[in-house]
Amino acid sequence: MSAALMAKTAFLVQSLWERNHVPAELRRLEASQWWSPAAVAEYQDQRLQALLRHTLARNPHYQRFWREHGADPAQVRTVADLVKLPVVTKEHIQNHWRDMICEGFKERDIVLDRTGGSSGKPLQFAMDRRRYFSRVAGAYRHDRWAGWDFGCRVAYIWGHPQAFLHAPNWRKRWRNRLLDRRIVLDSSSLTPETMLGFVNALQRHRPRVLLGYANSVYIFARFLLARGHDGLPPLAGVVTSAEVLGQERRQVIEACFGCRVFDRYGSRETGIIGSECDEHDGLHLCSEHLVVEIERDGAPVAPGEPGRILITDLSNYGMPMIRYRIEDMGVPLAGACRCGRGLVRLGMAAGRETDFLVTPEGKLVSGAALTIYLIARAPGVRQAQLLQERPGAVTLRVVAGPEYGPETEAFFARQVPEFLGRQMTWQVELVDAIAPLPSGKHAFCVSRVDPARAF
Ligand SMILES: [Zn+2]
Repeated sequence: MSAALMAKTAFLVQSLWERNHVPAELRRLEASQWWSPAAVAEYQDQRLQALLRHTLARNPHYQRFWREHGADPAQVRTVADLVKLPVVTKEHIQNHWRDMICEGFKERDIVLDRTGGSSGKPLQFAMDRRRYFSRVAGAYRHDRWAGWDFGCRVAYIWGHPQAFLHAPNWRKRWRNRLLDRRIVLDSSSLTPETMLGFVNALQRHRPRVLLGYANSVYIFARFLLARGHDGLPPLAGVVTSAEVLGQERRQVIEACFGCRVFDRYGSRETGIIGSECDEHDGLHLCSEHLVVEIERDGAPVAPGEPGRILITDLSNYGMPMIRYRIEDMGVPLAGACRCGRGLVRLGMAAGRETDFLVTPEGKLVSGAALTIYLIARAPGVRQAQLLQERPGAVTLRVVAGPEYGPETEAFFARQVPEFLGRQMTWQVELVDAIAPLPSGKHAFCVSRVDPARAF
C-alpha cells in the first residue's frame, strides 16, 4: 500500500475513532474555496446571524457587555453591521474568559488552551470540540495549497518539540508514522551545531514541505547559503508563519531551498486566519469560519490601507469571540485572485514582530517560542516584554496580576536559564504598564543586539 493511501486510511480511521467531522469538513472547505465572493459573503452573513442568536440565548456575559455599551445585536444582520457591536480586547478576555463560555457546554465539550500572544499578554481561552476539529480541517486545506498531501513527510522548525509532539503514546506514535509523518527541529536554539543537525535530519527524513517560524527559517536559510549547502532533498514548498516574513527574507529562503514560500498568518486563539495560494498575492482568509475586519478609529479602512485586525469566529459556539482585537495590523486587498478562489485576501503590513535574543553562548532565541513556552506558563503575568539592550543581559518587564508572587519568581528562576542559558544575566522589572510602539503595536521582544553576533 502506498504511503498516501495508508495516510488517507489512517486519517479516516482516526476520525471515526474520535467521532470527529474532519473529513467531511475538509471536503466542504475544498468546495467552498471556489465559491464566488458574493456567495462567501452571503454565507458569512447567515453564519453571523446564527452565532449572534446562539450567543444571545446562551451567554449572559455578552448580553450584559452589549447592553452596557448600548449595542443591540438584533440590528446586526450582515458583516458590515458588526461595527455596531463593541470590540473585545485581550484585557477583557483575561478578566472574563470563564464567563465568556456559553451555558450548556460541559468540560468534555470544550478544549482549553493558552497563548503567550505576540503582544506578550497571556490569554486563557476555550473553543468547543467541533471548532477544534474544523480548525484541523482548515489547516489541511492550507497545507495542500503549499504542496502537501496525505502521506507526505513534513519538517517543522518550531519551538519546543516535546510540547509540540505531546506526550508520546502508542496512538500518537502510529498517527505520526502513518499520517503526520513529521519531524520537529527545535527553533529555540539556533547555533551552527544545531543547524548542522537540522541538515542531517532533513537528509534522513526527506520532507516534501518545510514549515516554520519565519525568522527561524530565514536564519537557517542564510546559514545554509553562507556554507554552500549541498545534498538537501528538494522541497515542494516552504510555509512560514508566526512572524513577519518580509520580501528580502522571502527571497533568501526561496534562493536557498529552490521552491516558493507560502506565507501564513494565524493565532492559537483562532487557528489559521490567512494563507497564500500558489499565486503568492496576499493571504486568502479562512472566510468560512472567520470574519476579519480591518479598522482604524472605529471605521473599516479602504483596500490598501493598514488598520487594526478584529476577528469574529463564526464557528466557536463554546466561547464566542466576537470582534476580538488580536493586536495585529493588516491591509485588505481589493479584487479577485488569479487562482479563482473567492476567499478575500489580506496583505500583511506591520504584522507581528518578534525578534531574537542573543545569548552569551552565541545562541539566537526566538521571541515567538518564548511567548508560548515561557510567558504563557508563568503564573500571574498579565503582560510582559523581554528587553535586551546589550549583549549578555535581559530585562523581563512584567505587569503583574493578582496571582503574581513567589511562585512566579521561582518559575522564572527555573525557566529563564533553560531558555536563555546560564551565562545570561536577567532581572524582573515590575511595571504598571508597557507602552506600545509608535505604530501602536506592543512588542513582546525588543532586542537592540544584532543577531549576527551569534555567527
Ligand atoms: Zn489565490
